[in-house]
Amino acid sequence: MPATISQYVLKVHSRCDLACDHCYVYEHADQSWRGRPRAISAATVDAAVRRIAEHAAAHGLAEVSVVLHGGEPLLLGKDGMRGVLAALDEHVAPVTKLDLRVHTNGVRLDEQWCDLFNHYGVKVGISLDGDRSANDRHRRYANGRSSHSQVLAALALLRRPRFRHLYAGILCTIDLGNDPVAVYRALVDEAPPNLDLLLPHATWEHPPYRPAGAETPYADWLMQVYRCWVRDGRRVPIRLFGSVRSAALGGPSFSEAIGTDPVDLLVIETDGSWEQPDSMKTAYQGAPATGTTVFSHTVDQVARHPAVAARQGGTEALCATCRACPVVNVCGGGLYAHRYRPGNGFDNPSVYCADLKALIGQMPGGAAPAHAGPVAPGERAVHVLPDGAFDALAAGPGDVRAVGALADMRLSEACSLVAAVASDHVGWQDPQLHAAAAEGWALLCALQAERPDAVLEVFALPYTYAWAVRCLRLPAGADADRDRAHLAGLAAAAAMRAGVTAELPLAVRDGTVYLPGMGAMAVGSGAGTTEVVSVTPDGGAAMRGGGRWFEARFVTSPPFTRLVVEDLDPFRDCQEWPATGRLPTVKWLEWRRGLACAGRQLAAALPDYASALGAGLRAVVPLHPAATCTRSATARQAFGAIAAALPGESNQAEELADLLLHEFQHVKFNAVLDLYDLFDPAYQGRLRVPWREDPRPVEGVLHGTYAFLALTHLRRSRGRAGLVDYLRLRSWVCDASEALSATGALTPDGERFVAGMAAALDGGGS
Ligand code: SF4
Ligand code: SF4
Repeated sequence: MPATISQYVLKVHSRCDLACDHCYVYEHADQSWRGRPRAISAATVDAAVRRIAEHAAAHGLAEVSVVLHGGEPLLLGKDGMRGVLAALDEHVAPVTKLDLRVHTNGVRLDEQWCDLFNHYGVKVGISLDGDRSANDRHRRYANGRSSHSQVLAALALLRRPRFRHLYAGILCTIDLGNDPVAVYRALVDEAPPNLDLLLPHATWEHPPYRPAGAETPYADWLMQVYRCWVRDGRRVPIRLFGSVRSAALGGPSFSEAIGTDPVDLLVIETDGSWEQPDSMKTAYQGAPATGTTVFSHTVDQVARHPAVAARQGGTEALCATCRACPVVNVCGGGLYAHRYRPGNGFDNPSVYCADLKALIGQMPGGAAPAHAGPVAPGERAVHVLPDGAFDALAAGPGDVRAVGALADMRLSEACSLVAAVASDHVGWQDPQLHAAAAEGWALLCALQAERPDAVLEVFALPYTYAWAVRCLRLPAGADADRDRAHLAGLAAAAAMRAGVTAELPLAVRDGTVYLPGMGAMAVGSGAGTTEVVSVTPDGGAAMRGGGRWFEARFVTSPPFTRLVVEDLDPFRDCQEWPATGRLPTVKWLEWRRGLACAGRQLAAALPDYASALGAGLRAVVPLHPAATCTRSATARQAFGAIAAALPGESNQAEELADLLLHEFQHVKFNAVLDLYDLFDPAYQGRLRVPWREDPRPVEGVLHGTYAFLALTHLRRSRGRAGLVDYLRLRSWVCDASEALSATGALTPDGERFVAGMAAALDGGGS
């Protein structure tokens, strides 16, 4: 049985309007472009799409990706491109899901091109090497003129709400002469949904440029970007980093350049030749060739070609050096073309071997599954909602699956953030606290191998994420040391959940040490900056010299399974309103009774909302009643947590039900905003809304509308008793939805979400 091929690069034009001096098509060893037709013919397109469709149907492929490429694909012209897209639509789309992309230098992209791509759902990737000086280093016209301003105009076009959903990302080829941080900043400024950082193609015969004395300059360059990226909160997924981390965890690498996944990609040249990936052009004249064409050979036949099959063999197909390498499962020998050396072909490590090894070793969680949790590959595509979940959320309640997917996404990010905190060895001032953090991290890594569930439970706590974000933002100093040492607290809590014995120093804060989600221990007077705590297999914790233990308190009545009333976690104040300290028993019992009653009320009135709430709400933080006029709040960095002041006794359960419902809408919506661009962030307009006196930005109006949609459903469920309120809230949601749509600032996803809310006013929310 031949390997299946699900990715195709379709070369629709073989020439380019730029003359980049690092171009692997024209400037490297393989010069086959010279003998190819400039533009692909209709007959070649027809034969190619039939081959792709035939293979997809024969193997029942769920999805096929086709990237329109060149040279510069837009040189084909709009009519020619329309013909190609129509042929793909006619032949391939009926047999499999078709993921269409175009990779362009961007200089010709205009509104008409975007309209055409929009019509066929083609995503657009653009090459840009950084700021103007970085980009001008290579990406110029033949007469030396810069292409930078045209590329920026193309990116601005793709950021418009109308086309934002077409924006696939930016590809950047690394040049050591460019400042890595300046390049990173320039690329992130273009708000791409994805970034690809590519090592320049090279072989052992033509090695990459390396400054004298520099052993791993590419790893050093990339690590500068990596640190910057982590400090920014990983705002833009960077594929290389995601690939390393995913492969380290045994997942797919999402890339040809890293990992041991079989390469299931073929190229179709403008003359119909089947070829291997373009990177092979760097090896030698004719290296990508297979001697087959779409006219004479099926995909199955090409997949059996020895050169293609050689890339399907995983670790076993690598050279002896790579097979013996401790990071082979992550690196995979690097990009195939980069292994080439005259004499023994591709039976070598990558010419970037030292850099790859250094990068993998330095990236937290790169060399081994050193951080716990599901893969956080830096690919937005991995964090996607299951089918139907987006619309279920837009309709108000969402469902257990949708809320679970949002929680998984946040957990994945939390794993990355914790690993980033653990890997930051810069700026420590207190050696004791530094040692505590290191011990904590070592224990977390050990537990990850034995009891990953226990580690994940701790990482999934809402305030673990908030803590990690705070650590990464805090300047070095005593406070930063104490915060970072909280790693040991996470480890102790994970050990306690796992039921294993552990002893480690925990940071003392306000006379207390904390085991998140489990409890806290008051230390006696004369305590140091750390105190050694023992965790026992029966779930107990003790401190040398004794200490009073405060157990975390949970509400477990349906719809809640383990809802913590969080009055201990030192990072629970991130919603900016003062939280109470440890509740007196009487108050805790009042909270427990109130939450249980509110949960019961919601389960009876709105079962869909209640089950989503039960699945996603992990913590309620009691607010300090005397120190705030705020009744409730949520914080973006604490998924699954809300903060609230306990309403007065009269009508307490009903008011709490309102608060829970309202705030949990914000919790869900914050996570949706992490996954989807719903509006143009550059839009400056403000909208008047009936629930606030001051005009609100689009994001605020979206949040409010979503929260009031849930309350509309709740009032409707109360029948005549809630009629007046229901009508008032309904008109708020209706008016706000119309105002949002009229701004023109919504992306297609945003329009879909708003339309979903409007449509659910009279339908959803059972
Ligand atoms: S735009 Fe792309 S294809 Fe054209 S010369 Fe530059 S690197 Fe080569
Ligand atoms: S780091 Fe070097 S030796 Fe190890 S797998 Fe990669 S290329 Fe091969």
